[in-house]
This record gives sequence, structure tokens and C-alpha cells, in this order.
Amino acid sequence: MINSARKDGRTVLTEIESKGLLKEIGIPTTQIDLATSDKEAVAMSEKLGFPVVLKVASPDISHKSDAGGVKVGLKNGHEVANAYQEIMKSVKQKFPQAKIEGVSVQNMARAGTEIIIGMTKDAQFGPVLMFGLGGVWVEVLKDVSFRIVPLTRRDASEMIKEIRGYPLLQGYRGTEAANVTILEDLLLKVSEFTEKTPEIKEMDLNPIFAYKDGAIAVDARVVLEN
Ligand code: ADP
Ligand code: MG
Repeated sequence: MINSARKDGRTVLTEIESKGLLKEIGIPTTQIDLATSDKEAVAMSEKLGFPVVLKVASPDISHKSDAGGVKVGLKNGHEVANAYQEIMKSVKQKFPQAKIEGVSVQNMARAGTEIIIGMTKDAQFGPVLMFGLGGVWVEVLKDVSFRIVPLTRRDASEMIKEIRGYPLLQGYRGTEAANVTILEDLLLKVSEFTEKTPEIKEMDLNPIFAYKDGAIAVDARVVLEN
């Protein structure tokens, strides 16, 4: 994953490469593959099983939704073929300069509580992990917690519990509770990986869907040091 980006002279890994890396370190992700035509996307979807999600695959586009580059809940081949064309059209219009590799085809993950795990490098503290709830919780309320790498199990546990939205992870008015031990495991895996791979500059698992019996990264972005 890292080598293919380096060979290309890129520091930003695509979603496909980033998820490949996550898989290597034992973090569950959606199944994902690259399609370079609508026909190929349909064939891959049929193999995966519906519903599927299609996303633009471009090393130049990090915010795929903003480019009209994400279509979820596609139920049949017809919808997949249409989504492929719509994504291509929208992305070419909005980012005419972007190099588009094709469209990634992935299985649609069951809805869960959306969380975020991030890693950035602070000039003073070095690698730092961030934890938060997805969507408005992080964008509007900045409800996130931080710890310096390497994390202990206790750090991981504390950073999950100290966000204001923590009650949502315990199950709130009928929403499914998240398995906090599994979320701690994810934080520890990212921490260990960061520690032993200094050439990783940034990681963004946004979102991860958390369930009572697991968690799965549905989007991922990894950035390498120059
Ligand atoms: P962006 O580059 O805009 O962050 P994402 O890959 O995060 O794009 O997709 C946008 C949203 O679509 C996600 O926040 C999530 O809610 C939903 N989504 C993306 N991929 C999947 C998937 N495989 N299964 C279910 N929902 C998904
Ligand atoms: Mg995302």
C-alpha cells in the first residue's frame, strides 16, 4: 500500500490503499475494489452482494462527498451503472484537473454509531490520537479527546469516556450501544502502528461504524511523511 503510493510519488494514500493498510493491522474495513468502467462496477457489485456503495477513486480528492463522489444504498445493477456515470460526471465538473482512477465498489455497512479516530503529529508532543463521535459532534461541537502516543489501555478507556457524547455510546433511547472494549482495541492498534511506522504522518478513520459486537471503518485516509 505504502510502496504503491511512493512509486507514484504520492504522500496521500487512496481509500483503497488506506483500507488495505488497516486490514494489515487488524482493523476491520468494508470490502473494497476498484472499477474502471460501469460494467466492471456492476460485476463487482453482483459478486459482493447488494446493497453496495460507490465512491470516486482519485488521489486528488479527499472529500469525496463534496465532489458528488459518494453513492450509498445501491440495490441493483441498474442503480450501480447509473451511480458510476453520475459520479464521473459530477467529479469531472467540480474537479476538472483531478486524476480519476475510477470508482471504488464496496459493501454497504449496516448503520451504527459513527465515531472518528484520527492521528496527527504535533510539533511539540509528536504523534497524538484523537477520538470523537462522527458528524455534527465533531464538526460543530468539537467534542473530541486527545492522547499522546503510545497509549495505554487506560488512556484509551479514558479518552472514550471523557467526550460529552459518551452516553450515546452506551445506547441512548433505543440506539445500539457500542462495545467500548472494541473501540479501545482500535485506538491501541492505531497507537502501536503509529509508533512502529514513523513514515505515517496522518491517519483519519472517518467514520467508523460502532456496534454492540464490533466496529468497521467505512472511510479511511492515510498520509505519509514527505
Ligand atoms: P468523504 O470522503 O466525503 O468523507 P465517506 O467515504 O466518508 O466520504 O462517505 C460519506 C458518508 O457515506 C460516510 O460518512 C458514511 O455515513 C457513508 N458511507 C460511506 N461508505 C459507506 C459504506 N461502505 N457503508 C455504509 N455507509 C457508508
Ligand atoms: Mg469520510
